[in-house]
Amino acid sequence: VVVGVRMWRHSSEHMKWNGTGSTAHFQEIVLERCYNYAVQPELRDRDCQKIREAFRNAFISKDPCSATEEDYHPLMKLVDLTVPCDKTVFWSKTKELAHQYTKVRQEMFTLEDTLLGYIADDLNWCGDAGSNEMNYQSCPHWKKDCSNNFVSVFWDLVSKRFAENACGVVQVVLNGSISNAFDRKSTFGRVEVHNLNPTKVHTLQAWVIHDLGKFPSDSCSGSSINDLRWIIMQRNIKFTCQDNYSSGKFLQCVKKPEDSSCR
Ligand code: NAD
Repeated sequence: VVVGVRMWRHSSEHMKWNGTGSTAHFQEIVLERCYNYAVQPELRDRDCQKIREAFRNAFISKDPCSATEEDYHPLMKLVDLTVPCDKTVFWSKTKELAHQYTKVRQEMFTLEDTLLGYIADDLNWCGDAGSNEMNYQSCPHWKKDCSNNFVSVFWDLVSKRFAENACGVVQVVLNGSISNAFDRKSTFGRVEVHNLNPTKVHTLQAWVIHDLGKFPSDSCSGSSINDLRWIIMQRNIKFTCQDNYSSGKFLQCVKKPEDSSCR
């Protein structure tokens, strides 16, 4: 009955925004992912309920184009975005590959291998001022409507924290099959690179990977990577870059690094 009422009311509303609406069953998915991720059985029930509540409270009943970092502070207090030194993996335009990589190398972490990244990955959410419901019809599109929407502000904030917490050697998987493997306007280029702490991070190791069968469009010697090299060196962090790996070969070498063809 409740579902029927909700659908009726929403279908009678016009589309307010240009982006896709909140993910169906957002609340349930958040809770379920939290349970799936958490390790200590005694703690997880209370923590996950709290996390779901804090996540919801960040954006519910608010103008979906007025998100601020502060809205997420109660949520951020409940979760830990730190990973061991030398284990951080960033990515840009290589989501699938980077996740395949950390799946093989279980001790390595992308943001989506941390609790909060895992919970929010591929989800969409927004509410509305004057309503305590989520908007499942439409949400602000980050380019067409507003950049300070709750999803963009969330990813910028967690990406910033994830980068600030990194230490030792950090890695980034970049896409050598597009013309700019490094893009200053991407989250990696705009947020993560600038929030690495040079007193903790001594090296950024870039992997420029191209799709098998496609001619590489960018490489370690290309101008976009030079851009990155310059930014990183300006920040007093050592930069290394490795290319000539196709995605398949990269994963093969991740699995078997001792293979002579991987040296
Ligand atoms: P990318 O360009 O491949 O973008 C990753 C995803 O985020 C894409 O789906 C893109 O459409 C979306 N996105 C990018 N900027 C956005 C914005 N301002 N508002 C809404 N959506 C946006 O790679 P990137 O931008 O360099 O981001 C990847 C890096 O940043 C990773 O290292 C990761 O730690 C973090 N990140 C992750 C996600 C995610 O969806 N899991 C999103 C943003 C950032």
